[in-house]
Amino acid sequence: MTRVIGLTGGIGSGKSTAADMLGRLGGAVIDADDLSRALTAPHGGALEAIRAAFGAAMAPPGQGLDRRAMRERIFRDDEARRRLEAILHPAIAAEIDRRLPEARGAYVLLVVPLLFETGRYRQRVDRVVVVDCSEALQVARAAARSSLNPHEVRAIMSAQWPRWRRLQAADHVLWNGAGLASLEAQCRQLHETLAGG
Ligand code: ATP
Repeated sequence: MTRVIGLTGGIGSGKSTAADMLGRLGGAVIDADDLSRALTAPHGGALEAIRAAFGAAMAPPGQGLDRRAMRERIFRDDEARRRLEAILHPAIAAEIDRRLPEARGAYVLLVVPLLFETGRYRQRVDRVVVVDCSEALQVARAAARSSLNPHEVRAIMSAQWPRWRRLQAADHVLWNGAGLASLEAQCRQLHETLAGG
């Protein structure tokens, strides 16, 4: 089977950007966030279980998950967060297991934001690439791109592993503290390494 490379990093570090670059170079990309969005989009496979656990208002018939409402619901309620994760995480993992054997590429990149934190994927990946940048850049990029404000980004960061711990556990690091050209150059080099064995 094709080698599986985990790709992770803190919120806003540049995981999707790096995965796109490596994908264009020839890696097959499976993105856990994309799978999660598909499971909670209109007619997504996780909606029935979410309605049963949280009420129909969280995903009205014919509509997908109300993401902002769910985020507010689980922000300070750990039990609700665990219930949501108990629905989504096994469904995402099952979809990944279904796709992995079919993936065609020089290697398969498994993009998982909480790869280290959940532990679930460590035995599925042969190596781990960490995308890293300063916390200030993480906040600026994540807040500029999403509906989250800097305070909410910081709250998410505090639930993730700190940078030093991720960097210590990494087999490869992509430093995304400079411009896109710098990241692209690093991706080219990493691609050669990963594709070469
Ligand atoms: P999340 O954890 O929120 O899913 P992510 O780690 O996948 O985020 P990206 O979506 O790749 O991060 O990047 C976050 C934002 O920062 C995007 O708008 C992206 O275009 C931008 N970005 C990423 N890398 C750079 C860079 N080197 N220079 C400038 N902007 C960048």
